[in-house]
Amino acid sequence: MYNSTHVIQTGDESVFVYSEAYQRWMLEHSTVRHVTAEQGAALVSLTSPYTQINFDDSHYVPSLMLPHQPGDRDRITLHSTSPRSARIDGSNISGYGDLMLNKGDDYEFMYIAERKSWVLTRYPTTEYQARALRNGILPQLVRPRTRVTFADGNWVRDLHLPNPSPAGYRVVVETQATWSLSVRGLGDASAHATNLKTGDTVAFVVDEQGKWKQETITIDMLLLYSDKAAQRIGETQERSRMLEGLRLTNEALENSRANFRVRMVGLEMVPARDHWTILDHPLSDLRIDEAVQKRRNELRADAIYYEGTEAGCGLAWINRSDPQTSAFNMVGTGSLNCGTTVMRHEFGHNMGLDHGVSTDDTGGQYWVGNSRVGTIMGGNKIPFYSSPNLYTRHGVPLGVEGEVDAVRAMNEFSATVAAFR
Ligand SMILES: [Zn+2]
Repeated sequence: MYNSTHVIQTGDESVFVYSEAYQRWMLEHSTVRHVTAEQGAALVSLTSPYTQINFDDSHYVPSLMLPHQPGDRDRITLHSTSPRSARIDGSNISGYGDLMLNKGDDYEFMYIAERKSWVLTRYPTTEYQARALRNGILPQLVRPRTRVTFADGNWVRDLHLPNPSPAGYRVVVETQATWSLSVRGLGDASAHATNLKTGDTVAFVVDEQGKWKQETITIDMLLLYSDKAAQRIGETQERSRMLEGLRLTNEALENSRANFRVRMVGLEMVPARDHWTILDHPLSDLRIDEAVQKRRNELRADAIYYEGTEAGCGLAWINRSDPQTSAFNMVGTGSLNCGTTVMRHEFGHNMGLDHGVSTDDTGGQYWVGNSRVGTIMGGNKIPFYSSPNLYTRHGVPLGVEGEVDAVRAMNEFSATVAAFR
């Protein structure tokens, strides 16, 4: 599939797997070449698709640049056991400025020939509890992603993002706290702030000018389950299933770098009507059910997702062009017949997505999944929506620019959806 650097030496082992979908052999694994940081800094060419550069005290270098002309899809991992931090030059890394490598950190990069740059495929996350931050001040960021969690008893009024911070670095804030909080330090003005409410997950990212900007907006969802579903598996179990479906949906949106997240504004039981035998029935009825629509308006839910015992796996309206009909049709359904990954798929339909295709040419109808790699709308086998900016572990892009790009389609629609209620 790709012209990676591959010189097989004595004792090496390489495993290839044949992809039926692409009619090509793909590299599954091969021997990892271990080199010291000193050797790594001097690397011009690679002799294996897998190279690990180890930073330890005896072979430490303060900075390193990844090789400029590796083979396509070659991978480099960086690992540090040194207490001294090292700088990884960002000039040939896609989407990032310089990166810092600290003790215990693991980074993985893959070279994407068509981008002429290295793509960061694995990196560490720093976790903070809000109460551990003095006056809500986030220390200087040392990793590409930092997660800060808020809850009752674990809360500060203001979270201050550190300035300056490196381009591409992100902070993801999650709150279950009753009180709202403000995130400060965005853009040019220090007074600029974003307010977060209960259940919110909001990501912030440093742009190429070094300014913080809000990366995600919030779509509010009312989660409903039927009395029959609660009876069949127990109400506690049913509520857990709904929460797990929501968690998997948000995980996929984070993985895919979508510009929105979903917030649950209600988790409530509704009576299944006698004539509901297949999912088509609640899918139609919930749009006009007076009690449900009253709750939707009270809670200002942009979307509704329902789980019941009806025949079927999942079913949803595909919303796109007309905001009027889309707001009305913002309903997805699933059944106990299937698993908790159904929600992320059905919600994708609500966000305007069609099923997956097995082609690079859709004639510009890019709101589709990628069936060849099993994205969420194309088989739902991996926790990603299709996008040309994401890759499988074999290095295959999950989408094609302007042709297969579910993330773009959802990103273009999300602000409209967030304003439905
Ligand atoms: Zn579907």
